[in-house]
Amino acid sequence: MKPNDLTPFQALRRSLGMVAQAAPIELRNLALLNLVVGTGPSITLFLSKLVIDEVSRLSQTGAIADPIALLQAEPTLLWIVLATVVLNLVVDSIDSISTTLFAALRDRVQGYTQGKVLDKVAHFDDIALFEMPELLNLLELTEKGLQRIQRLSFIVAATLMGVFIFIPSVSVSVSIAWWVPLVLLVASIPSIYVEMRYHKKSWRVEETQAGVTREMNIYAKVLTGDVYAKEVRLFSLQSVLLDRWQGLFNTMFSTMERVRREGALAVMLWALVGGFGTAFPYVYVVWGVLQGTFTLGDLALYTGIILQVRRSLYILIANTGDIYDVALATSPIFQLLDLEPQLCTGLEAIAPTASVSPANRGIQLQDLSFSYPGGDRAILQEINLTIRPGEMLALVGENGAGKTTLAKLLCRLYDPTEGSIYWNEQDLRSLKLEELRSRIAVVMQDYTRFPATLRENVGWGYLPDLQNDRALHTVLKDAGIYSIVADLNQGLETPLGKQLENGIDLSGGQWQRLAIARALIRLSEVELLVFDEPTAALDPKNEHEIYDIFREIAKGRMTVVVSHRLALAKIADRILVLEHGRIVEQGNHEELMAQGDRYHTMFTRQASSYL
Ligand code: ATP
Repeated sequence: MKPNDLTPFQALRRSLGMVAQAAPIELRNLALLNLVVGTGPSITLFLSKLVIDEVSRLSQTGAIADPIALLQAEPTLLWIVLATVVLNLVVDSIDSISTTLFAALRDRVQGYTQGKVLDKVAHFDDIALFEMPELLNLLELTEKGLQRIQRLSFIVAATLMGVFIFIPSVSVSVSIAWWVPLVLLVASIPSIYVEMRYHKKSWRVEETQAGVTREMNIYAKVLTGDVYAKEVRLFSLQSVLLDRWQGLFNTMFSTMERVRREGALAVMLWALVGGFGTAFPYVYVVWGVLQGTFTLGDLALYTGIILQVRRSLYILIANTGDIYDVALATSPIFQLLDLEPQLCTGLEAIAPTASVSPANRGIQLQDLSFSYPGGDRAILQEINLTIRPGEMLALVGENGAGKTTLAKLLCRLYDPTEGSIYWNEQDLRSLKLEELRSRIAVVMQDYTRFPATLRENVGWGYLPDLQNDRALHTVLKDAGIYSIVADLNQGLETPLGKQLENGIDLSGGQWQRLAIARALIRLSEVELLVFDEPTAALDPKNEHEIYDIFREIAKGRMTVVVSHRLALAKIADRILVLEHGRIVEQGNHEELMAQGDRYHTMFTRQASSYL
């Protein structure tokens, strides 16, 4: 699973497409307003030239003594002055409308793009997206891209403005001499080149620093996150973590600062060349007035127009650099959006299009080996196993033996690197993923504590029953946590988690029971139950009550329980002992005890610690 490469041009084309899709109406209106605001100054300049020429003509006739009579006799001057005033008023009033429109455009673009990214990440089946550094860096760069694509709205608006200033001012500047716009343009080319080079360089730095930024964010999260707050304080880790964050920030900042300084110097030097380009036509116009080729009105118009051409070129140059910057920075967004989930880590992916049939023939694992994506160490090796319908299986073994990994493969969070898993003789990879997962109920070792209400924490296990209070109460009872509903003021609507307003926190064991209730609520459709250390946080007294519940719900279903509590393993139909990713013993409790090998040792060691 590797992101595609995108050229800056492709990224820009798609970014512009995104802006147009996100806010077509705002974009059109902004273009129209910019047309007025952009061309307004050139028209004003032209009107001013007419006023100056008219005034100097009239002053030569000596009629200026009575201005009122003069304006009545020469209404042209009056109309020109009026037109100038009205135009200035219109341009000024449009400014505030543009600001509002621009804010709407920016927000829409941000919301639309972020929505697309969230949708992609949320529906991405591959858990490896969150575990491979290369893809995590892509996520980090996407965040930066999202900030930049907002700026694209501003850049598009500014570019339109630049173009609308440029076209009329260049058209007028040709009337000074044909070469004037050419000189202004040629003098600006080096600046465009230098701007683009600078942006490319600074983006390369950002790109290579994505790993550093991610690491900084990890430290920032540890320093500010509620999950870490207690231990950070109890072990006084603040300074260590802050120093690490600061060190990374300093490294990144100094690299960026070097590039920025070099860039600013080059841009400034070439801007001076552009300045000479402006001076040359200006001197030419002053010279023309002295020679009598140009009028005083021409002087006012041409001086203003030269500055307008220069201003528009400046806007366009600065925006070319910015556009290039956006094109570079937004490519990760599209790389992420194009990313294809490819659950399979080693073998050819099979299209998951088959419907899931009832697992009457159980689940078979055939010659299964597995390494995590990006790792080359085999975590599971040559596993051959059949889970029979209705069978309860316990996976036991030391830490790191591969028990959780095997459970995750059964839920198709990963695909085997070698070999296959068959569900009712159909390869797991050929089955519709959502349908398959609806047949599985899981309590993970690191179960989730959703910052949501009690109702949602349980009901999200089976959305059709989210509003079914009876079903919710039943599973809360089965998981042995019903008393909590009575204890809480807001009952099922109580927000859980301190991050939420008025949210309350639960004990570790209560959270674990909620995770069990969340699995139980979907039982009606479930054929496979996977419980990974489902009782780790429960007190021994209540643990046995949960065992009874497990035995009850496991009836008629395939159940895989991972547990270090061998009392739980004892109730299973079959126990598998895993060691270094291989099954080294299997049988029921009595058989394995009689065998007197690893399980026997583990069980007697554990039992003796309770005596
Ligand atoms: P425990 O009893 O401690 O829960 P386990 O038998 O369930 O252990 P697993 O969690 O399956 O063991 O881990 C088996 C090996 O796989 C470990 O060596 C661990 O380092 C590695 N491992 C686990 N998760 C990942 C992952 N997401 N990416 C890479 N390696 C992993």
